[in-house]
Amino acid sequence: MTTASPNASPTAASATDFSQLPLSPATLANLQQLGYLAMTPIQAASLPPALLGKDIIAQAKTGSGKTAAFALTLLANLNPRRFAVQTLVLCPTRELADQVTTEIRRLARAEDNIKVVTLCGGVPLRGQLATLEHGAHIVVGTPGRLMDHLERQSLQLDALNTLVLDEADRMLDMGFFDDIVKVARQCPKERQTLLFSATYPEGIAKLAAQFMRDPVTVKVEAQH
Ligand code: ADP
Ligand code: MG
Repeated sequence: MTTASPNASPTAASATDFSQLPLSPATLANLQQLGYLAMTPIQAASLPPALLGKDIIAQAKTGSGKTAAFALTLLANLNPRRFAVQTLVLCPTRELADQVTTEIRRLARAEDNIKVVTLCGGVPLRGQLATLEHGAHIVVGTPGRLMDHLERQSLQLDALNTLVLDEADRMLDMGFFDDIVKVARQCPKERQTLLFSATYPEGIAKLAAQFMRDPVTVKVEAQH
């Protein structure tokens, strides 16, 4: 005789269902439309504490879905009616900043009019200054150029609630330690900080110790 296990029911929630997270129905519907049917392991490990507001250090290999893990968190923290920079995402290169911007826009499309701006080096400042005058909810950029804007006061961070360091290992390799610390010091103290990385070199803990608050560390080991 066989008995049906409750876990075998197609309607039972599994640990990787996005629907068990405190996300809006519109966001859940958008995830379905994007084909994000289940959380990846790093999303399942980092989203529950991140959506509770904890600082997070998350490590998982490239291609494991780290962008959506921080993007869903920063979007949950965002008030679309407040037109001011509420999130800053630091990335090592322009190419990566553009990819992150694209992913945030895809995940944000369930909400009206969330403006994401990319600010990277190697691009004339003038256009960026004009863009910033029109305002933004989310800024994605490289540490050096973000530092330039903070020094010129063309970027205001008083409404910021979420700071993200993406590909932190690569930013350290590129010598951005001091710029990252300087940018973090200009952010309001009352905020959530999310650090994502593919590897965990010594510098990461040193960096986190400078400006993170009781971070929860989540690691998804590569499968061999
Ligand atoms: P990482 O930053 O860890 O290198 P990405 O965030 O760039 O990885 O994600 C890799 C790919 O996986 C992207 O194409 C993204 O759209 C896709 N992806 C992310 N999360 C999910 C999910 N839950 N279901 C399906 N695809 C996903
Ligand atoms: Mg990534």
